[in-house]
Formats: sequence, C-alpha cells, structure tokens
Amino acid sequence: MRDGLGRQIDYLRVSVTDRCNFRCQYCMPARGKIWFPREEILSFEEIHTLVRDVFIPLGLTRIRLTGGEPLLRQGLATLVTLLRGEPALEDLALSTNGVLLEAQAGGLAAAGIDRVNISLDTLEGERFRRITRGGNLEIVLRGVRAALEAGMHPVKINCVVVPGLNLEDVIELARLTIELPVHVRFIEFMPVGDRELFEARGTVTISDVAGRLRERFELVPVAAPPAGNGPADHLAIRDAMGTLGFIHPMSRHFCDACNRLRLTANGHIKACLLTSGELDLKTPLRQGASADELRQLVQSAVAIKPDWHHMGDRVQALTMSQVGG
Ligand code: SAM
Ligand code: SF4
Repeated sequence: MRDGLGRQIDYLRVSVTDRCNFRCQYCMPARGKIWFPREEILSFEEIHTLVRDVFIPLGLTRIRLTGGEPLLRQGLATLVTLLRGEPALEDLALSTNGVLLEAQAGGLAAAGIDRVNISLDTLEGERFRRITRGGNLEIVLRGVRAALEAGMHPVKINCVVVPGLNLEDVIELARLTIELPVHVRFIEFMPVGDRELFEARGTVTISDVAGRLRERFELVPVAAPPAGNGPADHLAIRDAMGTLGFIHPMSRHFCDACNRLRLTANGHIKACLLTSGELDLKTPLRQGASADELRQLVQSAVAIKPDWHHMGDRVQALTMSQVGG
C-alpha cells in the first residue's frame, strides 16, 4: 500500500497492551496514568482478524508486537501462533523491556517470534532503577541472554539517550557489542508524553553520541547491517561481535522513508507517531463492518499520513506507552 506521497507502507506496529511494569522517565509519568479500560483492549482474535483480513491484504506483511510491555499480556505466544499461521506474514518481531523475557523467550521463539528489541538505557544498576522507576538491571540482562539462547536474531538493544540521565552510559553499552552478538542502537529522545522532561532535558543529537564513541573506540562501517524495518546508520567497534545503530528522529528525521503504521492497544490506527490524530478501527470492527470497509478506513488514514512529523515546536500528547513506540 502507498500513502498520499507515494511512500510504501508495509510495516505494522501492534501494541497489545498500554500497561507496563516499568515507568521509564522518558515514556510515562511517575504516577496517575489512566489505562485504557479492559473492554477497550483488542482481543487476540480481533488483532488476528485485522492482520489477516485488513493489514496483510493491504501489503503490511512485517509486524512488530509492542506495548506498553507486551509480555504482560497473558498468553502472548497464542497471538504469535495465530499470526504465524498467516503464510503472507514475512517478519514477526517483538519490542520488550526484557523483564519477563527470561521466562518467555523460549516459548515465544518456538511460537514464531523472529527477533527482538530490548530497551536498556544504562548498565549501571542504580541508574537503571532510577530511569525505569524501580527496574532491576540483572533481570533484564538475564532476559537478553535468554533471547540469544532462544535463537532470536538479531537481538537489538535500544537505548534512548537523554541528557543528564544516561549520556555517560553510551560507552559501556557500546562495549556490550564486543562480547555479545547484540546490536546496540542509540535513539534520540523524542518529545512524546512528558513535555516537562523534554523541555528540561532537551535532546542530545545522535552525532554527538557517535562522536563520544569515536573518542573511545575505533568505529568501522558495517558490511551487512542487522535485519530490521527502521531507519538507522550502522557502525561497529572494530572486531566486535555486534554492531551499533544510530537513530535520529529529531536531528535528521527520516519521514521521507517512513514505511509504518501503528495499531494501538484500543484498536486505533495511528499514521504518524509524532502527529496527533487517530482513526478508530475497533468500533466498526465490533459493529460488524466488512473486511472491505475496514480496509477502506485504513486506506483513508494512510492517504493523509503527514509528510513529516513537524516536531520541535509541539509535544505529542499521548505517551509512548500508549502509542507503542
Ligand atoms: N515496553 C517495551 C520497551 O520498552 O521496549 C515496548 C514499548 S516502548 C514504548 C517502545 C520503545 O519506545 C522503547 O525502545 C522505548 O525506549 C522507546 N521510547 C519510549 N519513550 C521514548 C521517547 N520519549 N523518545 C524516544 N524513544 C522512546
Ligand atoms: Fe514501559 Fe517500555 Fe515505556 Fe519503559 S519504554 S515505560 S518499559 S513501555
């Protein structure tokens, strides 16, 4: 499917829950978040129906399960199995904070998850606890190892770099790639959800991060970047097992090549992460709309996908956990 500007849209991020067992500073407010009511959340059957009858026929054949924290959703492997039953599905990935991964990696890989992105912003335990507001670093590191052992490939580590929070941690995170075949990606902090934090911290550009790493390591180009659906510049520390990725949504936006659509946990379509405006797909689905009618709705949302996110001047009101990252 192509949008109004001719961009090919083939990648769908499906948020299976807006709940989370962390409250990362850059993603959610410390308290007071109101979750979507349970009855508003799409069931696995509803997600499967939409993927099979609406998204795959429209050409969205690459899917990532996200959240909130997707592993909090009971029986997630059941959804993975349902989606894997669709022969046209090309790629099924997962984004997680890793807390429940040690227990679930084997089952999810067996059910058909190809690859995983794990959020990890520091390797210093106390700072990790502060950033995530209570998380335990060791548990997440065990989740990273479990994903590697389960054969998920590639295993990517996502680090959102926030000035004053974890800028100094980029060196140790990059060092992880020397010993482990993981792909560590540094992501610019985006003004989503927490206006105050963004205004207080601002953002550090990803070229600053690369500059810091160059002072410590010899960085070389990557011949074969790890599989993925997103825009990243790739480098590696010479002779390392893994690679480094640099993602710059703010300093050098990649909207021209945007290939994605988002389905929120309450069944709304979001054509642009950083622009307000959603289209309710759940209500017509539950009212018995035909697959053809639902496809037309999706096409209407995609047709007006904005040319770029026009950020910098505004802060998106929904939190990342509500949109799915
Ligand atoms: N809970 C899962 C996780 O943490 O990976 C999946 C959902 S989370 C919303 C998806 C991604 O969004 C994570 O990699 C997270 O670091 C990123 N994210 C959240 N808030 C962000 C922000 N303000 N700027 C940039 N990335 C953000
Ligand atoms: Fe939860 Fe992921 Fe957001 Fe952290 S980034 S609060 S783990 S949804």
